[in-house]
Amino acid sequence: MRRINNISIKEFAREIGFVGCGIVRTEDFPEYKEALDNLIKEFPETEPLYSPMYNRAFIKSRFPWAKSVIVCIRYYGRYRIPKQVKGYIARNYLFDSRVPSNPDYLIVKKFTEWLRSKGVKVRKGGVPDRLVAYKAGLVTIGKNSFAYAGRYGSWINIVTYLVDEEIEPDIPIVRDICPTECRKCIDACPTGAIVKPYTVRMDRCISYLTYGPTIPLKKELEDRMGRWIYGCDVCQEVCPLNKETWEGKERLTHLENISDLLTPQAIVHMDVETYKDIVYPLFPYIPPDNIWRWHRNAERALKLCSP
Ligand code: SF4
Ligand code: SF4
Repeated sequence: MRRINNISIKEFAREIGFVGCGIVRTEDFPEYKEALDNLIKEFPETEPLYSPMYNRAFIKSRFPWAKSVIVCIRYYGRYRIPKQVKGYIARNYLFDSRVPSNPDYLIVKKFTEWLRSKGVKVRKGGVPDRLVAYKAGLVTIGKNSFAYAGRYGSWINIVTYLVDEEIEPDIPIVRDICPTECRKCIDACPTGAIVKPYTVRMDRCISYLTYGPTIPLKKELEDRMGRWIYGCDVCQEVCPLNKETWEGKERLTHLENISDLLTPQAIVHMDVETYKDIVYPLFPYIPPDNIWRWHRNAERALKLCSP
């Protein structure tokens, strides 16, 4: 007898706060490997960034016990963006559900616990999230490479769970969403990271540039990063598919309480202890040893704030 089924999974996912849920069979994803191959071929300097992602294409061999992937969608557009941080810290990072003080952390955790309570073996993540959500029919992909989930726009996170149960998969309705002539995201991207429709170069994307590179950025690139201190929302904010998709009504007190410390003015002089205690727990991509990154990003933002 099956421990879980397509219907019970979706009901529980909705009940605890996910806004979408779908199922795909576990398989390898040669199209994902091919996309990485093409990126590296076209931009060889990106190889160190994309190589570690190859393993996501080989689910069958890495997780031979897994039979299905459950894909869940979390909508963070319900939350209010504190005015102090708007345009400096990207929305996805403000409402990161991997942070325990974010209430959505419990949604993700509850789902794992529920599966385990049914005797199901489960592993979170490890698959190409956007592709899997697309295959489950939950999202479509925009030319900016972001996943869009209907009325929730691109303000979503995809959470995946590999499970050792054969579950009836969903049959997706595949459709393109971007109007043929639209290229607003491409034209608006400050660093030219969207090199062509559906292709984003990570090594030029501000999101990565604010926290990832291990070597100093070329001035030419840094000068184009604008006021962003952590992440970037430009290509999503200009997108007509995101019109009226951000509700922004619910306040997150853990975030509101420290918003004054997240302004460029506060960050630029922040000491390591304050950073470690207050900021780092919410924004884990920059460890305290690398606080200089925050300082440098804040400095750049401040230059642009000055009259
Ligand atoms: S997140 Fe910013 S830098 Fe990255 S592709 Fe979008 S607009 Fe460009
Ligand atoms: S801005 Fe236009 S092209 Fe870009 S993702 Fe949105 S609809 Fe598609």
